[in-house]
Formats: sequence, C-alpha cells, structure tokens
Amino acid sequence: MLPKIDGVCFTDTMNAVETWHAEALATRAVEALKKNGFEAIYLPTGKDAADWIERLVSPGMVVGIGGSTSLREIGIKDRVAARGGKIVDHSTPGLSPEEKMATMRAELTSDLFLSSSNALTLTGELFNVDATGNRVASLTFGPKKTVVVVGHNKIVADVAEAESRARLVASPMNNKRLAYKNPCVETGVCVDCRQETRICRIYSVLRRRPMLSDFTVIVVGERLGY
Ligand code: SF4
Repeated sequence: MLPKIDGVCFTDTMNAVETWHAEALATRAVEALKKNGFEAIYLPTGKDAADWIERLVSPGMVVGIGGSTSLREIGIKDRVAARGGKIVDHSTPGLSPEEKMATMRAELTSDLFLSSSNALTLTGELFNVDATGNRVASLTFGPKKTVVVVGHNKIVADVAEAESRARLVASPMNNKRLAYKNPCVETGVCVDCRQETRICRIYSVLRRRPMLSDFTVIVVGERLGY
C-alpha cells in the first residue's frame, strides 16, 4: 500500500514535484541558450524529441550520430532509417579501425548531425568531454545542421559544475559502459588518470552558437543518458 498525505498518494506527489522541477530548470536553460544564439526548445518527453527530429529527415539525407546513450534511448536510428535517412555512426558494431575513422570523418560533413551533451548549464552553455575529438569537432564545425538532445538530468548551474558532473557522473559511467579498465571504473569518480586508455582528452565549452551554424538544442523533461 503506497503512503498517502492528505489523501494524496506520496509517489504521485513526488512525481509531480519532480516534473515541475525538471520543467522549471529546462525552461531556464532554454531561455539562456536562446540568449547565446542557439535555437532551443523544451519538449516533455524523449518521444517528443524523436518526433521533432524525425520531421527534419528526408530520403537520402546523411545523418551523422555522435555516440550517445540519450539518442539510443529515444530510438533515433530507427526513426531516421524509417524516413529514408542515410545513417553514419562510428559506434556501429563491427567497424574496422579504418571504417570507424572514415565514418567519423563522414559525420563531420553530414547534412544533419545528432548528439547529446555531457552537461548543459543554466547560463546556456554546452559542455562536453571527448576522447578522439570527433564529436566535439562535429558540434563545432561541419554539419549543415546540428541537433543536440539533453535530458533535464544534465542541467547544472555553470561550467565549473559541468566539469564536476563530467568527473563525478558522465565520464566514470561512460568508462563502465565502454568496458575500459581505467581507475574510475573502480572508484566511481574521476582520478585524473594517466592511462593510455583515458577517454577524457578534450574538454569543450560552446558558450555561444558557433558562427554560421544551424544549431538546435532540445531540452527534454525526462532523464536521458548520463
Ligand atoms: S580521466 Fe581517467 S579516471 Fe578520469 S574519468 Fe577519464 S578515464 Fe576515468
């Protein structure tokens, strides 16, 4: 039996409060992104984000995908394929090293590049940590259009907190997901290692929309990725 407060289910109240808070933070982040020159929108669910992106895709369009748990969670590859888009994704299983490098280069010049971000600040900046640099390169210059999908769980106060989030949450979890044997997989937090397999090599902040870019950030009112 779920606990009730004044006849209201406690779990329902918690969900309503969390939904309110997610939307409140997301709305602030969207307004800050707009001030920084990005197109930015708030959508309540990952499905809404996939619906929005799907409408951009036309048959034959080259759609690059920056390795992203958030995009996997919203099922974007199936949506793009269903619209006849040509997916270029370096994280596709079974690629040889040469094919992987060629795919990363193709992502740079895609018609539409899709990615998430490791953190989004309430002052409208996108923060990312990368290993090879292909993802932050594509976010910086190259694709005809870029769409970044960020769950509300990645919203932080400022760039300092964004870096803390990367060290505490995103990077250790990505190491675990990718099965690297870096020390953070044991400690759960970054210890600024010197391993050959260190995946944290490039730290990028987009403080304003890159000049000449067509760049949209979708902030989602659900948890996506990490
Ligand atoms: S710098 Fe090393 S220890 Fe820190 S998160 Fe990256 S891989 Fe892990």
